[in-house]
Amino acid sequence: MKKIIFFCVSAVIFSCSKGSDSDVETQNIVTPTTPPVVVTPPAPPEPDFDNDSIYSTTSYNDLYTYWIAFQKTASLFDVDLSYIEDVVIQSGTRNGTTMASAEGSCHDYIYIVVDESRFRNAETAERIFTMYHEFGHDIFNASHAGGGLMAPNIRELDYKLFQTEVSDFFNKVDFVEWTDEECEQIREITEPYPG
Ligand SMILES: [Zn+2]
Repeated sequence: MKKIIFFCVSAVIFSCSKGSDSDVETQNIVTPTTPPVVVTPPAPPEPDFDNDSIYSTTSYNDLYTYWIAFQKTASLFDVDLSYIEDVVIQSGTRNGTTMASAEGSCHDYIYIVVDESRFRNAETAERIFTMYHEFGHDIFNASHAGGGLMAPNIRELDYKLFQTEVSDFFNKVDFVEWTDEECEQIREITEPYPG
């Protein structure tokens, strides 16, 4: 009697394991897939004076940083200013009404006098505009008649508009030199070079 029961139990186990094997073979296993995570990179910040790779290197604590920045900008237009060695940019007040004055206009040196208290209180855009304007006078003898970068009023400019004005200056779209007569008059009133 015991033998019969044992046989029956064995048969059931065998039958079950065989049945489950065939289930695995025919089962269609679907592995759930997670959708790919799409990471949208943050939009780059709008370019402005404070994140521009050249303008952002300037500081009113070191006025020569504006000279270095201007040279870098000029090089973007294939203008090499590395030959200029006589450069003086110093604090002072020329006539009390201007933030800066180009005393090197119509001379073969750069001599810019900056009213530092006014300069520090100006916006970044005004400081950049002012210094680039004065370099335009001193290096290229550019007159106010060209307008744009050389327009005589100190302005706080929109970044993109300033980029256009700088480009127009170096590409000689907005560029008029002082006449010889104007240069004579300028040499009579500019400060002697201190270097
Ligand atoms: Zn000017």
